[in-house]
Amino acid sequence: MKIVKAAKQLTQKAIAYFKSAKIANSPAKNQLSHANFPAPFSSKMISPQAIKVTQTLQQKGFSAYVVGGSIRDLLLEQKPKDFDVATNAKPEEIRKIFPNCRLIGRRFRIAHILFRYEIVEVTTFRGMPDKTKNHPTHQIRSNEQGMLITDNQYGTIEEDAERRDFTVNSFYYDPSTHTIIDFCSGVEDLKTRKLVMIGQPSIRLREDPVRMLRAARLSAKLGFAIDAAIEVEIKLLRTLLYSVPPARLFDEAVKLFLMGYGEKTFSVLCQQGLLSTLYPATAESLQKIPQSAQLIQQALYNTDQRIHDHKKVTPAFLYAALLWQPMLHQLEQRKAIESLFPALYHSMSHTITQQTKITAIPRVLALYIRDIWEIQIRFAQKSPKSLDLLLEHEHFRAAYDFLLLRAESGEGDEARELAAWWTQYQNSPAEKRREMQKEIKNPHKKNNQRKRHRRKKSPSSPPES
Ligand code: ATP
Ligand code: MG
Repeated sequence: MKIVKAAKQLTQKAIAYFKSAKIANSPAKNQLSHANFPAPFSSKMISPQAIKVTQTLQQKGFSAYVVGGSIRDLLLEQKPKDFDVATNAKPEEIRKIFPNCRLIGRRFRIAHILFRYEIVEVTTFRGMPDKTKNHPTHQIRSNEQGMLITDNQYGTIEEDAERRDFTVNSFYYDPSTHTIIDFCSGVEDLKTRKLVMIGQPSIRLREDPVRMLRAARLSAKLGFAIDAAIEVEIKLLRTLLYSVPPARLFDEAVKLFLMGYGEKTFSVLCQQGLLSTLYPATAESLQKIPQSAQLIQQALYNTDQRIHDHKKVTPAFLYAALLWQPMLHQLEQRKAIESLFPALYHSMSHTITQQTKITAIPRVLALYIRDIWEIQIRFAQKSPKSLDLLLEHEHFRAAYDFLLLRAESGEGDEARELAAWWTQYQNSPAEKRREMQKEIKNPHKKNNQRKRHRRKKSPSSPPES
């Protein structure tokens, strides 16, 4: 909510600058304009490292700008997540200038300039695919569906601006003049708070289907509407996400849910039909058991809060929540043919393997998710011998938090009773714990006492014969 509010509150100062910017005569949408206007924010708002990298490149005779989302965020008076630099220097040239540089990426070669607490990402201006389709060096290649396999054709600043995804992501800030160049009428769309694709969505989403997820994420983060032309194409093209390497989709999934506005992003994904593409088993469970949305929403809400409080978060917890119902569904079916633990192990493997085909789940994370789930079953078993072992389990804390989440999100009386029991158990001194263990060993004794007690109290009980 805060984000949406902040996005609405463009200050008077910024609006005045936007108005004075040369946008009145800007050409039709998606044709390159060259609106140039003084930056309405202080240069102190930009990371000194990003400025240093930009100025060093300029001093060496290259053109260089701070670009993309960081300038968009500053125009919206939001704190940028990171700062990117774009330049006409080639990756090898960048490496020669900065000893602290590492070149990464194959599909899209990028230079990372490493500082103590920050990495500044430097990209070389990209060229246009259609103009270079038959380029002898094949620096841009696409598959039959129009998806770019490699995208390392370099070009001019104008081409680079057109290669970016949304108009509001195509600002170029020059620290030496303290001005912003807006090639794609992004200022207009900032004012109307709309995500508009540069070029035709049908082509741009085919080139890189991840742009659909970026649309969902940025719409949630900024509180911007997604342009209707993009929405239409998402409906038609969303299954193209299956051609994106699962490892890249995992990285994007982390960005969707672990950037502090996961709850909002989740609802945008649902609205755009992207949840059923990315997490089909989750979407199916939500259809069958709508109230299971509560657990996911609560997990996302808690994660957002933790991020805002600068606390640690793990994607394992969220994945455990997203895939909990699908795993339980499997477990129910398998329990009919095998005993509890083999059924559990098979169900966990099946659920994770299915999801991994779409968004990779790194092995360490998969083990973490399995631990969270398995401990839920062991919580319910309360096997006296393993009670204290469970408390010492490296993922006990996450599993216990998951149990609390289940209890809070209306999973039923059993989850609530278990959560109360485990809260009491872990907070009790050794003596009390032994007592609780004895109670588990002799449940009949306690149950019978309770039953007798209840019978006595209940006015509606039939008289004992
Ligand atoms: P965030 O606030 O999450 O950092 P961002 O827009 O800055 O959002 P980045 O992933 O940091 O996102 O990318 C930096 C810039 O690179 C974007 O603003 C955009 O101009 C460009 N970009 C990133 N991904 C793509 C893509 N898939 N297609 C086209 N342009 C992209
Ligand atoms: Mg960024």
